[in-house]
Amino acid sequence: MSETLFTKIINREIPADIVYEDEQCLAFKDIQPQAPTHLLIIPKKPIVTINDMEASDKELIGHLFWVAKQMASEMGFASDGYRAVMNCNEHGGQSVYHIHLHLLAGKPLGWPPYTDTLKV
Ligand code: 5GP
Repeated sequence: MSETLFTKIINREIPADIVYEDEQCLAFKDIQPQAPTHLLIIPKKPIVTINDMEASDKELIGHLFWVAKQMASEMGFASDGYRAVMNCNEHGGQSVYHIHLHLLAGKPLGWPPYTDTLKV
């Protein structure tokens, strides 16, 4: 696959406001925040979409949620609440094809997260 800008952030080829890193993942501030706190937690392994996950990736993806939990606790919004969400492909609103967990917090978040009026 071609390298995305998230691989460039992992490799420090482009700057990002990195708030957490370990052997498996990196967390940094979203450049266009949709909430007072908006972090992206990404695996260092460049998995393209949720559809491209392999069985051997299950623990890695669980780790992203574990880091989200830790960040929520450390940053003080665990009890108020937050949203951890991953978009997939066009209809899911994915724009960077290296999976990432959005961690949004700091205000009551609307639901549903879309603004169209389509009846299901
Ligand atoms: P997606 O739409 O794929 O679910 O989320 C991609 C996210 O990456 C968006 O929220 C977008 O604001 C963020 N983003 C895109 N380019 C950059 C960048 O260069 N730096 C950072 N920190 N975030 C980015």
